[in-house]
Amino acid sequence: MTDPLERLNRLPIRENLRGLRPYGAPQIDVPILLNVNENTHGVPEDVRSAIVEAVEGAVAGLNRYPDREFTVLREHLATYLGHGLTADNIWAANGSNEVLQHVLLAFGGPGRTALGFPPTYSMYPLLAGSTGTGYLTGSRDESFDLDARTTASEVAATGANIVFLCSPNNPTGTALPLEVVSEVYDAGEAAQAIVIVDEAYAEFSHSGTPSALELLPGRERLIVSRTMSKAFALAGARLGYLAAAPEIADALRLVRLPYHLSAITQATAVAALTHSAKLLANVDEIKRQRDRIVSGLTGMGLPVAPSDSNFVLFGGLDDPGAVWQDLLDAGVLIRDVGIPGHLRVTAGTQEETTTFLKALESLIRPRV
Ligand code: PMP
Repeated sequence: MTDPLERLNRLPIRENLRGLRPYGAPQIDVPILLNVNENTHGVPEDVRSAIVEAVEGAVAGLNRYPDREFTVLREHLATYLGHGLTADNIWAANGSNEVLQHVLLAFGGPGRTALGFPPTYSMYPLLAGSTGTGYLTGSRDESFDLDARTTASEVAATGANIVFLCSPNNPTGTALPLEVVSEVYDAGEAAQAIVIVDEAYAEFSHSGTPSALELLPGRERLIVSRTMSKAFALAGARLGYLAAAPEIADALRLVRLPYHLSAITQATAVAALTHSAKLLANVDEIKRQRDRIVSGLTGMGLPVAPSDSNFVLFGGLDDPGAVWQDLLDAGVLIRDVGIPGHLRVTAGTQEETTTFLKALESLIRPRV
């Protein structure tokens, strides 16, 4: 039997896709899934009913294409974000991955570059690659933080057309001070760089952590992207969105596929936003479990990156691959993000978190 990759490579596939394997964390069926930063709390019963009712209404009109402008949804998203934003400032797509893809299609492409700061969200280079955009990397300090001056000078020196700032950063969990965003924005002036602050995990930040939404007024090259996949517990519905100057949304209209947001998706998201308080009620509980993980791991003597998100990156492991496998054998799936000595775990429910902490402690106790 020939290797599927070998067979694929016999096709006249684009050169920059040759040899690549598709993105994807392992989807393994075990009792406790703490590997892809999902919200492990289900959608509350009454919100579920509201979504089902809204979807039923949408089904009645499925013979027609959906509202191409998803106006009602954009209005709800603007209201949710606040900060004086209106529907004109909002764009949405099937997950923030697609939102980011739209940005690359409109502002990247052959002969242009995007700059990211690894370790960061692993889709940035893949989205750059699939849109023919060059991908450049800048540096972080040893605690994975970005220093405003260094980062800004890397942005200026590379002349990148698109800059990815992830805050809180996946996989490290740390949020960025706004000073970094504003200095990066100013440093991108010469190249007219589009600066994207990916705030997929913003709702899990410690109170008082500011959002880059505050910086939007007067900055027409700044984009803040968000998702309903995490705090809203709607990863399966696929709805990501961004806030930016209205002309950015106009640029993205040029590259989206017509009717890209189905009537079902729009109805689901609007119903969820109508009940946002109930859906977000679990955020505080998730933050408590996140903080439990931080103190539990610290108590085990493992170095932990401070986290403003629903996951925690921890180090101090001689053989992270073996720890990952042992946890899996114990029914707990977490993520090996490829950083030497480190693993990443998503905050679960109280019980899931307890099982993870106990399993890990029993694994590492003999070695500390
Ligand atoms: N940005 C970051 C930093 C993420 O971690 C993720 C998902 N893991 C996404 C964007 C994409 O999420 P979605 O497409 O579900 O909105």
